[in-house]
Amino acid sequence: MQYRRLGRSGTKVSEISLGSWLTYGGSVGRETAISCVHRAYDIGINFFDTANVYHRGAAETVLGEALKGLPRTSYVLATKAFWPMGDGPNDRGLSRKHIIEQCNLSLQRLGVDYVDLFQCHRYDPETPLDETLRAMDDLIRQGKVLYAGVSEWSAVQIDDALHTADQRGFDRIVSNQPQYSMLERYIEKDILPLCEREGVGQVVWSPLAQGMLTGKYKRGQNAPEGSRAATASTSQIIGRLMTDENFTKVEQLQEVANRNEISLAQLALAWILRQKNVSSAIIGASRPEQVDENAKASDVTLSVADLEHIETILA
Ligand code: NDP
Repeated sequence: MQYRRLGRSGTKVSEISLGSWLTYGGSVGRETAISCVHRAYDIGINFFDTANVYHRGAAETVLGEALKGLPRTSYVLATKAFWPMGDGPNDRGLSRKHIIEQCNLSLQRLGVDYVDLFQCHRYDPETPLDETLRAMDDLIRQGKVLYAGVSEWSAVQIDDALHTADQRGFDRIVSNQPQYSMLERYIEKDILPLCEREGVGQVVWSPLAQGMLTGKYKRGQNAPEGSRAATASTSQIIGRLMTDENFTKVEQLQEVANRNEISLAQLALAWILRQKNVSSAIIGASRPEQVDENAKASDVTLSVADLEHIETILA
């Protein structure tokens, strides 16, 4: 496993990290979830991502159980707040009240004294930006959070956050967590150039397009039993990626992977890691074997010819 700096911070994260959306605390049983986390840790993955909202705290609880007993210095733990955690008017968003309360609750569920990275899960137009950034900075001063990050903020919002932090003397955000994969490339236009310039690292989600980029879903065939697309609670979420256009790309990408004697998942992850501004690609895994397969992408370097060919497939 190779490691990269989390943005311009000095903290190193594994190129492949493990997340817990739609899996741990939910459709993936506790024992299997813990096995996935332990397998990841054993093969050098040191970066784990979760959020308060994933199964309303249950993902954090399972991840905390899995990490219990491992030296706290040996892993980098990230969580997030923004999405509703209750029905009340203050149970959501990026107000000072919600951020600080949710961070404390996340720490309790995870069973740790601090998280390495605390992320604003979305932008909140109903809270002044400096209120949010001050609350994040206070958590840093209190030692409950080591670094602040954001997720799915636009280039303009990220730029504002950097300028506000500089003006007010707050710590700058170190990372952004956007969706990025061979099938979703919107960040390449504005976000990557800005973040590269400013030293904000991308910690990208759904790098395998939820499994589409593993090649296990075939055009016109039923989804494999037990897969995300075959599971009632998640099939709609991945279903929107299963278009004819995407199947055509996947079929052609599979040929590139075969020629390189790697799996399509490894090709998809190595392609993401070609971007220097990416700090880590956060995979999901419902089985330890998936962790093994995906982590090997850290050792794959794609040739210029392959990258050009992939570009024509994705165009
Ligand atoms: P991926 O694109 O990596 O999809 C993961 C799923 O694909 C797995 O759960 C598994 O599903 C399948 N899979 C993975 N590897 C393989 C393999 N080698 N062979 C076959 N199937 C495989 O990522 P996710 O969509 O799970 O997102 C990853 C993480 O990103 C989340 O856990 C979360 O931490 C973060 N995230 C952040 C968001 C944000 O707004 N900031 C939004 C969404 C996610 P199965 O076996 O069940 O088919």
